[in-house]
Amino acid sequence: MPNFFCEYCGHKATSISSLTSGSCPRHPNGPNRGKHKLYEGSEKSKYACKYCGHSNSTIRDLTSGSCPRHPDGSNKGKHAPML
Ligand SMILES: [Zn+2]
Ligand SMILES: [Zn+2]
Repeated sequence: MPNFFCEYCGHKATSISSLTSGSCPRHPNGPNRGKHKLYEGSEKSKYACKYCGHSNSTIRDLTSGSCPRHPDGSNKGKHAPML
């Protein structure tokens, strides 16, 4: 059974349709202002932020932290996993 993860919050689902039907608490437009977004990279043992290189073992932990090199400004957004 494949797992699908949300790129913004690391939420795990067993199908893309169930993943993208749920509201995302870490959506860039604001908490629950949009749906989970499919992370299109493969499942890894470590995920690195595409903006600053900070890494964590889960997307959930990675995206919980503010990113000092976020495109919207320093700490204006969360780390985002590289594919
Ligand atoms: Zn999400
Ligand atoms: Zn970052």
